[in-house]
Amino acid sequence: MRVRSVIASLTVAVVLAAVVQPAFAAENLVRLNDLIAYPASRSGETVVFEGEAIGQALRQPDGHVFVNVLDDGTAVGVYMTDQQSSGIIGYGGYKQIGTIVRVSGELNVACAQHGGDFDVHAAGVSVIEQPTARETEPLGLRLMLAPIALALGIGQFFLYRRLRSHRHLF
Ligand SMILES: [Zn+2]
Repeated sequence: MRVRSVIASLTVAVVLAAVVQPAFAAENLVRLNDLIAYPASRSGETVVFEGEAIGQALRQPDGHVFVNVLDDGTAVGVYMTDQQSSGIIGYGGYKQIGTIVRVSGELNVACAQHGGDFDVHAAGVSVIEQPTARETEPLGLRLMLAPIALALGIGQFFLYRRLRSHRHLF
């Protein structure tokens, strides 16, 4: 009986943890549109956000890189170590969506170390999703190419038939 109630309360605890944990994590995420509006008084706060690594890593002389992270049209420079950036295998551009990362770090509304820029000094960088191809081919182009593909197919069919009939001749 006692074992059973222990198991029951453990089950409740596990279920609660599973339900509460993701909600808690999601609430902590800040959108970059909100972040860039933070007043200078919030410098030094730890912030957590997600976004796409875009452009390219800008190498710094001190073994760090700056990675631009984009979320809903707003990009923020994230200062991180080479090690922290090692999971970012692709940067977003015309052809691909870059690695999606979750960054936690210290907010600097006017960073004294980096010329008064707005940036985030990463404490942790984790990969949420690796790069995927961006759908860049416009629909119009595909519609234009379709008849060409069809014509090529028909042409091949007739060529094949001609070759076959020639073979019958010999
Ligand atoms: Zn900085």
